[in-house]
Amino acid sequence: APVRARKPDWIRVKAPTSAGFAATRELMRAKSLTTVCEEAACPNIGECWSKKHATVMILGDTCTRACAFCNVKTGMPRKVDAMEPQNVADAAAQMGLKHIVVTSVDRDDLPDGGASQFVKVIQALRRTTPDTTIEILTPDFRNKAQAAIESIVEARPDVYNHNLETVPRLYPTIRPGARYYASLRLLESVKRHDPSIFTKSGVMLGLGEERLEVHQVMDDMRSADIDFLTMGQYLQPTPRHAKVAEFVTPKAFDAYAAIARAKGFLLVASSPLTRSSYHAGDDFERLRSA
Ligand code: SF4
Ligand code: SF4
Repeated sequence: APVRARKPDWIRVKAPTSAGFAATRELMRAKSLTTVCEEAACPNIGECWSKKHATVMILGDTCTRACAFCNVKTGMPRKVDAMEPQNVADAAAQMGLKHIVVTSVDRDDLPDGGASQFVKVIQALRRTTPDTTIEILTPDFRNKAQAAIESIVEARPDVYNHNLETVPRLYPTIRPGARYYASLRLLESVKRHDPSIFTKSGVMLGLGEERLEVHQVMDDMRSADIDFLTMGQYLQPTPRHAKVAEFVTPKAFDAYAAIARAKGFLLVASSPLTRSSYHAGDDFERLRSA
């Protein structure tokens, strides 16, 4: 496919100017919370924040890894904030969130990879906002995965999300430090421990993957019993990051969605601006009331 230097017109984003945007930002600052919306320079921030959807990023704003697609800064992370779980819950209560997505940076420096902070956040949310459904988007926890999964699954999030991000062939350049099959096994193991938790994963397209490789990833996900799938266009956050190999057309995203549904995913979100957490609450609500 031809490489285009400029973004096609289907990648259109709203400037973040609404009152809802400002209110969300205020609240996040007041609670000293970090959002992936800002740290990852998400193109949907104007839309999401004006609708009071935000994805909270716990365990700090500094990651111990440096993935080629990710805008989050790398370095020595700060100490874990003991107030963070309750701050997340208070923010969710103030925003009146029906559904919250909580993610984190990778904390390969912590003995449990940060799993206990996920557990505390889930517990604080259950106490403070018992009607809010909880979606967590976790790192792979590397060699601490089994213990991490067991403790998190016991806290019973509604949705357990972990992104495969790309096809296995591109891991060495795009997601070094991660293993495709380890990530698959993590999700499979969540389902095995508690089949009532929905599992979810996603890939970015436009990194140079082939169509049949994407189909294979879908098959791998289905054999790991993954319920929800998200697919979106990769956008280069800065010139230091991996280049966009291709802008996948909206029609091609639709075609992928049709194939994914035929393969049995319960929820499929596939469009250029789809992100892991984009419309996550609305989609989940629709599924639950169906
Ligand atoms: Fe935030 Fe997700 Fe919306 Fe992006 S799509 S602005 S990360 S909630
Ligand atoms: Fe970004 Fe996650 Fe990679 Fe860290 S591990 S650089 S937060 S994608």
